[in-house]
Amino acid sequence: MENEAGNNRGDDSLQEGDITALEKKIYDLRNLIEIGMSLSSNLNFHSLVESLLYSCIGQMFVEKVAIILQVDIDIDSYYIHMSKGYEQTFDKKHILLEDTSPLVKHLNTTPLPQEFSSLRENEALSEELDKLEILSPELIVPMKSKNILNGILILGAKIHGGDFSNDEKEFLTDLSKFAAIAVENSRLYLMATLDRMTRLYIHHHFQERLLEEIKRSQRYGTPLSLIIADIDHFKQLNDTYGHQQGDIVLKELARIFKENLRKVDIPARYGGEEFAFILPDTDLANAADVARRLRQTVQEYEFTGQTEPLRLTISLGVAEYDIHRDLDKDRFIKRADMAMYRAKKSGRNRVAIFR
Ligand code: GH3
Ligand code: MG
Ligand code: MG
Repeated sequence: MENEAGNNRGDDSLQEGDITALEKKIYDLRNLIEIGMSLSSNLNFHSLVESLLYSCIGQMFVEKVAIILQVDIDIDSYYIHMSKGYEQTFDKKHILLEDTSPLVKHLNTTPLPQEFSSLRENEALSEELDKLEILSPELIVPMKSKNILNGILILGAKIHGGDFSNDEKEFLTDLSKFAAIAVENSRLYLMATLDRMTRLYIHHHFQERLLEEIKRSQRYGTPLSLIIADIDHFKQLNDTYGHQQGDIVLKELARIFKENLRKVDIPARYGGEEFAFILPDTDLANAADVARRLRQTVQEYEFTGQTEPLRLTISLGVAEYDIHRDLDKDRFIKRADMAMYRAKKSGRNRVAIFR
């Protein structure tokens, strides 16, 4: 007869092995709860994915672990999003599994971790499995949200050798469910806040973030600046080369902005051909430097044209948040906007500062 603790010695006492196993189980569950809770906290996606990978390393005693995701709103394929324990680093170009590939289809049919060696027995998957080889995979864990694969956890060999136990696979199955929800949430968030064409934040999100940053600046007394940029004579470019060409330019311009701002800055598409950048922790002098650098970079850039490269310029207005002057965020925006119009009026392709 089995008692509640699950041993079959016919007595009620727990043996040491049982206790260790139970302690491990409790530890694992705690870990899962923590990860589950962090899903609903403000933890950003990057740190969440990172802690998932460290969980795998710590709990499974593996050295190498990677996560392949389909998370970008404009990329349908799966690529290596993050990895730990490898000598080389990977970027978005690494391992592109197509949405329609046999491996993705196969993993869509099962929620369970798969040994890499047993997947290898399936000839139809060999091409994609070859691509995975650079990750020294031992165990492949599908991540599914709403029954659709949105990622794959890849674990390398266990440090002390041997196979993954059933308990471990069970833990990974639970972990992968959380991971899949996190990916789904992140994708939804991106879709709701990013402009499809430029991949900059949409107007509404800009307004929300500006309010947050104003509050933060008030609370901690840190400076906060705002830049508004508008393309010079953009109508002319559209009229000459067509709207489609205009769109290409907008996309390239957005990329230039992102590449020339810090990670903490908040770049938004404020209007059709108008942009706004929130610069936390930045005073007027530094924000003006940023604006000048942007102006210069755009002026020198050769945009993709139909027959030859295109040139264009932008006008920018800069303002620093002033608690006495800016009774609300609209006033702050207005001041940056007024500066931008002054830049237009005084000849375009320049930076004007609201002092
Ligand atoms: P200024 O130097 O005074 O800013 O001149 P401008 O021609 O840039 O300004 P205006 O406001 O007269 O025209 C803005 C143009 O931007 C008109 C509009 O067709 C174009 N535009 C706005 N949004 C988009 C877009 O999404 N794609 C394209 N291709 N053009 C856009
Ligand atoms: Mg314009
Ligand atoms: Mg405009």
